[in-house]
Amino acid sequence: MKTKFDILIVGAGIAGLSQAIVLAEKDNSLSIGVVSKSKLQETNTRLAQGGIAAVMSTQSDSYLAHIEDTLNASQHKANKEVVNYVVEHAHEGIHQLENWGVQFDHIQNQYHYGLEGGHSQARVLHVKDQTGAAVHDQLISQIKNHDSISVIEYSEIVELLLNNNGEVGGALIYNHKDKTTLQYSAKIVVMATGGMGQLFQYTTNSAIATGDGIALANHIGAEICNLHSIQFHPTAFREAGKSQLFLISEAVRGAGAHIINKKGERFLFAYDIRGELATRDVISAAIYQELKTSGEEEVYLDCRHIPKEELAHEFPYILENCLKGGFDLSFQPVPITPAAHYSCGGIQVNMNGESNVPNFYAIGECANTGLHGNNRLASNSLLEAIVFTQNVANNILEKVKQKEFKSILPEELIEFSNDEPDFCKAETNVLKTVLTAYFISKSENDKVELLEMVSYFNQQLKNIDSSELSVLHFRWKLTLVDLLLKEELNLEKNTDNFILNKSI
Ligand SMILES: Cc1cc2nc3c(=O)[nH]c(=O)nc-3n(C[C@H](O)[C@H](O)[C@H](O)COP(=O)(O)OP(=O)(O)OC[C@H]3O[C@@H](n4cnc5c(N)ncnc54)[C@H](O)[C@@H]3O)c2cc1C
Repeated sequence: MKTKFDILIVGAGIAGLSQAIVLAEKDNSLSIGVVSKSKLQETNTRLAQGGIAAVMSTQSDSYLAHIEDTLNASQHKANKEVVNYVVEHAHEGIHQLENWGVQFDHIQNQYHYGLEGGHSQARVLHVKDQTGAAVHDQLISQIKNHDSISVIEYSEIVELLLNNNGEVGGALIYNHKDKTTLQYSAKIVVMATGGMGQLFQYTTNSAIATGDGIALANHIGAEICNLHSIQFHPTAFREAGKSQLFLISEAVRGAGAHIINKKGERFLFAYDIRGELATRDVISAAIYQELKTSGEEEVYLDCRHIPKEELAHEFPYILENCLKGGFDLSFQPVPITPAAHYSCGGIQVNMNGESNVPNFYAIGECANTGLHGNNRLASNSLLEAIVFTQNVANNILEKVKQKEFKSILPEELIEFSNDEPDFCKAETNVLKTVLTAYFISKSENDKVELLEMVSYFNQQLKNIDSSELSVLHFRWKLTLVDLLLKEELNLEKNTDNFILNKSI
């Protein structure tokens, strides 16, 4: 088995796969390894429904409008230079995907644009309501065209390794199939491990979204920023006993769906004049407030006034999934709840994907480019991943030619066992519940409880065998919660009315 690559990309969502393809297209002499924790298809990318925001014609839309929408959604915390760059290069990213075989929906030879919350124009390109899967399928078929790309499935990075110069020089990777740990060496490592929605009680994210890459990057001294900016999506389908919830896309509200309370009232206008088309953070906060005031347990998405044929044509996948859960979207209001959806922050990088640690890059949802600020604008995430591939590839190609393989510091190869002790299972659930409660309430009591819990668990872990994979995972969770809380505490110190201003 090959364990030495010029470039090792950890993650096989839109960010990891498209980066590998662009690199291979530019220079097919480089060896590229792409690591996927589970099977290749298990990604957040595949779950994306709504689509990709882009200004494809300046006659009907404008860069300025997309830029302003992005800045407004971010609560003016996004980096303007990054926003300008991404918006102005969006059409190139779309054409790149089309060249790889993605066919966005058209009507009469024109792109069909969806309208989503926070956008002042309909500008979301999509493939029905399964855009992510359509894109991912094409990326998977493209990587098969490149002999220089090796895919390493069911393999999980457990540690980043440093070479003799203190630079990143490889990774320890555990294979879930044959239960072995191998040392991989690489001239450059690119983290593309996605978000961390699984840290919370309710999430729309795939099981792989546990924030591993961010925790590992922190361990080697990479700068982590904006981690506390977790986006909650207001319209996750609430099903009893489930924590990973099915997302009802923003585009359904764009098509005219209402959000109502138990009395049938469209209560959102009391919170924001945009009603159902306000940004996700505003709607999620309004739902929490409404439930708190009314004492009810749920609110509903109401599509009964939208013609059934329109729903069936535009949202077949959503309709089908709600039906599986016992609700007919065209006929009855569907219970919804806000759920952790997107990690706006992560490993701090520049516009070339470089972190502060030599030979170490980050791309996609695990990176903090500065595009999203406090709150991501709908459909700007797949866009971010595809737009930066060119810059990142050019930078890597320039650097990798000057590098040689350096010997990696000897690392003890721990034989991990995959049993999950009860301790971690139970404690993970408690941590998720308290973290979610804190994010919703932002109350002092919940914060104190969370801080005490993190310190108690850290203490407990000192006496536990670290060769259990689940113990390692639990440590990463504690690292992430700790980083997140530290940021919140810093913000409070620097902003007197931080808690009042924060909407979730
Ligand atoms: C339900 C849903 C709907 C969405 N809809 C949209 C939308 O319409 N438009 C939009 O722009 N965005 C949308 N998003 C957000 C978007 O899908 C993600 O932000 C984006 O796909 C992230 O891509 P990525 O490549 O960074 O990560 P992912 O696609 O999540 O891929 C992460 C990869 O990292 C691997 N990995 C993780 N940990 C490890 C490890 N320890 N070792 C090895 N590999 C590891 C995984 O196996 C996986 O291959 C949606 C998200 C969700 C959850």
